[in-house]
Amino acid sequence: MTLTPTPARRALSHCRMPAPSPLRFTFDNSYVRDLPGAFVRWQPATVPAPRLLFLNEALADELGLDAATLAGPEGAALFAGNTLPEGAEPIAQAYAGHQFGGFSPQLGDGRALLLGEVLDRAGRRRDIAFKGSGRTPFSRGGDGKAAVGPMLREVLIGEAMHALGIPTTRALAVAGTGEAVQREAAFPGAVLTRVAASHLRVGTFQYFAARGDLATLRALAAYAIARHDPALAGTPDAPLALLRAVAQRQATLVAQWMNVGFIHGVMNTDNMTISGETIDYGPCAFMEGYDPATVFSSIDHGGRYAYGNQPHIARWNLARLAEALLPLMASEDDEPAVQRAVAQVTEVIDEFPALYAQALLQGQRAKLGLRTAQDGDATLAEDWLALLQAQGVDFTLAWRRLADAAAGDANPLRALFAEGAALNPWLARWAARCAAEGDPGRAARLRAVNPWVIPRNHRVEEALAAASEHDDLAPLQRLLAALRSPFDESPSSLRFAEPAPPQLTAGYQTFCGT
Ligand code: AMP
Ligand code: MG
Repeated sequence: MTLTPTPARRALSHCRMPAPSPLRFTFDNSYVRDLPGAFVRWQPATVPAPRLLFLNEALADELGLDAATLAGPEGAALFAGNTLPEGAEPIAQAYAGHQFGGFSPQLGDGRALLLGEVLDRAGRRRDIAFKGSGRTPFSRGGDGKAAVGPMLREVLIGEAMHALGIPTTRALAVAGTGEAVQREAAFPGAVLTRVAASHLRVGTFQYFAARGDLATLRALAAYAIARHDPALAGTPDAPLALLRAVAQRQATLVAQWMNVGFIHGVMNTDNMTISGETIDYGPCAFMEGYDPATVFSSIDHGGRYAYGNQPHIARWNLARLAEALLPLMASEDDEPAVQRAVAQVTEVIDEFPALYAQALLQGQRAKLGLRTAQDGDATLAEDWLALLQAQGVDFTLAWRRLADAAAGDANPLRALFAEGAALNPWLARWAARCAAEGDPGRAARLRAVNPWVIPRNHRVEEALAAASEHDDLAPLQRLLAALRSPFDESPSSLRFAEPAPPQLTAGYQTFCGT
């Protein structure tokens, strides 16, 4: 398809144009400027009854925005898409992607719009984007809309990840639209405003590679490098270096997911960022009892995106990025050059498991309270996980209770195991390893890296149901407060730290694309 919107396409999106908003963002829209041909200019749909359901005041402040003004009616109109701030240049971005292993040459923003970029107080370039803002030329059969529940899920999981120190896109606001969105049933509609280091994905590269549009592909690689790896700009083999940088970021990211029990649920190549941020909290969930085969997504029948498969999928996705970058590394008709380029990218892809293992072990050492690196550490961590798996022990609480053990009381940890005695030989090894290293501050250090509160599935569902079905945002606010201090073991957060009843977890399913 051509990326020029026709009047007919424009007409299908909305009836009225958004009015100017009096609220000020200082936009500087490099994507629109640098990558003509990579997007379609488009307008958000206007909605009947904007109402602010969530505003991220801390993030607003980070972006240099006035949270107090955004919290008012003008903020609701803006975050619902009815008004647009000066300088916004809304676009639907083009991208492709492998979904569950099958390639779709054209996905793109079917219900999202990038409004533009702002430089935050720290000088970082951040995308401001809508999700659920109506149909676009990329909508295919979809309605372009989003429901309150899934958009508030993005709020909860994104803020939890951020508080856990895991790179993530974040919700700036969620506005109710006053419209019903038809899914399995009718749900209240909402628009999410999402902030991201960028929305460049593996699938963005695939889109232009699949079309043989080398000029845009080249411009895209230069753009990605300027934005995420400026030190690589102008270096020889820059596309290869970009691949290496993305591989390193993804290795670190997925290791962090694994160390908190996070299951993304839909690691399609269009949901893997170049920036290394986690994106698209759809059918994601946190593991309770430790089992690498855990999968919650209702559409993931083969377990492709199961917890334990995530590092393999990350590598698979990086191989797709490598393929998309190859045309920039060698011209198709220069066979020796192609061979050389293939060998170079293969080396990066083959290195990924080691990069990942290193990142995982680094995180595990911290979670075990170890400050030095010793040869047996990986085995110590593996044996610990094997114990958790054998007895289906809650992943989060087990790590957390290591802190009590470090402080001299292993009973709370043993109590998590049906057969606590099975833990003793491992505990003795760990204690010996710790003693050899010394350091009296271990318990406090463990409490600073092993969270007490994660977004447990039953609590997330409870908060989303209250908001979506009963218009009650109080449970969401309470959960959010606990998630924002995940390492504080305060009495008020106890109900958020407790695992769900096992029968509930056994039947738990998450849903995509709602
Ligand atoms: P996701 O599974 O949310 O990452 O989306 C995959 C693709 O489906 C993207 O191209 C989305 O824009 C598109 N999509 C998802 N939901 C909708 C919807 N309700 N309307 C239009 N497009 C959608
Ligand atoms: Mg997506």
